[in-house]
Amino acid sequence: MYTEGDAAGAGAGRRGGVERGTVMRGVGDPLSPGWAALEGGEALGLDDEEVSARFPKVPSLPVSAECAEMILASLGGPPAPPEWTETMGFKVRGVGPGPTALNFTYQGEKKVATIHNVFAVIRGLEEPDRYILLGNHRDAWTYGAVDPNSGTAALLDIARRYALMMQRGWNPRRSIILCSWDAEEFGMIGSTEWVEQNLMTLGSKAIAYLNVDCAVQGPGFFARATPQLDELLIEITKKVKDPDNKEATVYEMWTKANDGIDIQRLSGIDSDYAPFLQYAGIPSVDMYYGKDFPVYHTAYDTYDWMVNHGDPFFQRHVAAAGVWGLLALRLADDLILPFNYLNYTNQLRGYVDILNNLLDGNISVHPLTLSIQALASVAKEVELEAEKLSAEQTTGEPGVLRRRALNDRLMLAERGFLDADGLPYGQWFKHLVYGPSDYRSRTSFFPGIAEAIWRSARMRSGEGQASIQHEIWRVARAIQRVADVLGGRPL
Ligand SMILES: [Zn+2]
Repeated sequence: MYTEGDAAGAGAGRRGGVERGTVMRGVGDPLSPGWAALEGGEALGLDDEEVSARFPKVPSLPVSAECAEMILASLGGPPAPPEWTETMGFKVRGVGPGPTALNFTYQGEKKVATIHNVFAVIRGLEEPDRYILLGNHRDAWTYGAVDPNSGTAALLDIARRYALMMQRGWNPRRSIILCSWDAEEFGMIGSTEWVEQNLMTLGSKAIAYLNVDCAVQGPGFFARATPQLDELLIEITKKVKDPDNKEATVYEMWTKANDGIDIQRLSGIDSDYAPFLQYAGIPSVDMYYGKDFPVYHTAYDTYDWMVNHGDPFFQRHVAAAGVWGLLALRLADDLILPFNYLNYTNQLRGYVDILNNLLDGNISVHPLTLSIQALASVAKEVELEAEKLSAEQTTGEPGVLRRRALNDRLMLAERGFLDADGLPYGQWFKHLVYGPSDYRSRTSFFPGIAEAIWRSARMRSGEGQASIQHEIWRVARAIQRVADVLGGRPL
């Protein structure tokens, strides 16, 4: 990935860098699809059909831009699509075959390796069975000063700061778990296997998962979150000093750069939040400094690059650790969980408006509108209930139980978006609001509906409409489930 204008950062590597990446489809260990890879546990064979289906049939090898130009410039044959020239930044004439012949030597190694996740647990004093998880991966394609070690440095600094607080007598109310994942670059294998292994425990006890991958890849704060966490994230950024402007907070510079709040969502499958949110339905956050960086996944992702370009004074690292660590503290210590489902409702309404514009009049979004209405009224009631319980002085068992009951509903509501049948893109992905869809789809939400719209263009019209309508119903039922869980009405 080469970002024009940032090229100075890459130095000599600008056109000579080779971007590594996995070509495996989906996430997790291919030998244990849908269950945890454990020593002595069930594992498919390397030659199993299901395993080979996860890998491309054609040998694949990343090359540098310099090398690609040399190869492409030598091709004749029918003219290349204009996008090729646009993307590459040099003239690509033909698509071949020939006249040049290319010698391609590929040495693939197919072997099973052992990976290690590492955890640090601070046991909660009052509610040890409720978990706040902070995660970052530890494996890197090359030196990994940005990806992932900037995040690892931040995680270690949070551990250091929490340890200092504990020496002064602090203990969190709920348990805080620091997670260092292995094999993220190969398809989120470390985190995915762990989530698969602990699905029921996480499903009933995990409050939130806070992910940081590349903590610092340049200037400017960026965040992605599930919408009930937006408000908390915004509040926290008001408490942390901006790393590039001593007079301002992270919040001030962040909103200035975006003309307001810009929190993206988590539909991608590009870091370890994917199994937590898209498979287990756990509210999640992902954040970083710097939109992208030119030496991504190349041998130039080094300490030298970080010191010269990414974060010369390491103050962005400090800010990233500050936001991340404070987020976890609030989630671990607040008596009532700081989740805002009214905000989730507004986001869903926005999605339905966009969807309505994409659809022709024969398809009804009414089921979605109705279920969002139900969620909105429940979210409003819950907000009042939370205010009342926060102000309430009741100590002892009755107060504890009332707060715990509300917190459980707040914690479990997100799980309602999960659907056992999963997404058309892959059944393993269970979340019907955020998840992957075919790359040609036009939206970053409701992946099942988006995929149905894309497919319907290739079907007889009645059939296509019916499949879109079915996907709309599935999402509507999921939203209703969320409303039911959040409302907590007795059956
Ligand atoms: Zn990474």
